[in-house]
Amino acid sequence: MSRQLKLIHLVILLCLVVFSFSTYSIASQKDGLLKVYFFDVGQGDAIFIEAPNGNQVLVDGGPDNAVLQKLGETMPFYDKDIDVVVLTHSDADHVTGLIEVLNRYEVENIIYSNVVRVSSLYGAWQEAVVKEESNVIDPVTGKIIDLGSGVTLTTAHPIEPLEGKVRDKTNDDSVVLMLKYGETEILLTGDIEAKAERRIILNGADLDADILKVAHHGSKTSTIEEFLYEVSPQVAIIQVGAKNRYGHPTQEVLSRLENFGVKLYRTDVDGDIKIISDGKNYQVLK
Ligand SMILES: [Zn+2]
Repeated sequence: MSRQLKLIHLVILLCLVVFSFSTYSIASQKDGLLKVYFFDVGQGDAIFIEAPNGNQVLVDGGPDNAVLQKLGETMPFYDKDIDVVVLTHSDADHVTGLIEVLNRYEVENIIYSNVVRVSSLYGAWQEAVVKEESNVIDPVTGKIIDLGSGVTLTTAHPIEPLEGKVRDKTNDDSVVLMLKYGETEILLTGDIEAKAERRIILNGADLDADILKVAHHGSKTSTIEEFLYEVSPQVAIIQVGAKNRYGHPTQEVLSRLENFGVKLYRTDVDGDIKIISDGKNYQVLK
């Protein structure tokens, strides 16, 4: 084959590749499914949401940069945009991976409450947020983020704006989100503990959900019975590292979940956990 002909062949081949990728991405966005990935990133949280229209949300980034590989496996290789990033609170097992996500991806919106924490990690996060020039959204209760195609994220916590408040511990300041698509409801709880759980119940939020992301990796200081009663989940997911030094998840929480007849999944046992929903029925895949 002449060099010219080889070049034409190459161009045609490239066009075919680009065409097949674009039809793939359109097809994957038009299947009408909400997809939620609870990544196995060890001891920490990282949850990736894709709405049927392709809009994407990342809630927390885990304890290191493992989230980058998970995103690389889940998102098309050419996709370097994330519509919404949420930082539930600034503990290392939630914020660390997110800093590098902001550096590597174009992030349109960032949801976090800007509770001030004097730590180098929080300083690095704030620096990354400033550099990103995203739209920053305060997560104070009742805010509704419309992801399109009928998918919404509603904030259920914090109750009051926390901007500028200085704290040593931020578990009980965690952003809590209700993800809704038709009849499927998923409650994401960060690391809230009993105090915040009671506060949310008293505030009268509708907490009823099919799936509960168990707060604080199954710590015994979270997931009190009253909270489980309000949420009444069918499925619970614990994001937790194998043989972690905190003893998470605790037997107390596992027993409470069992008493409520909840089907339990955990990332240390099941690896990545994926939920798909067509707005009527959902399925848990692992
Ligand atoms: Zn945590």
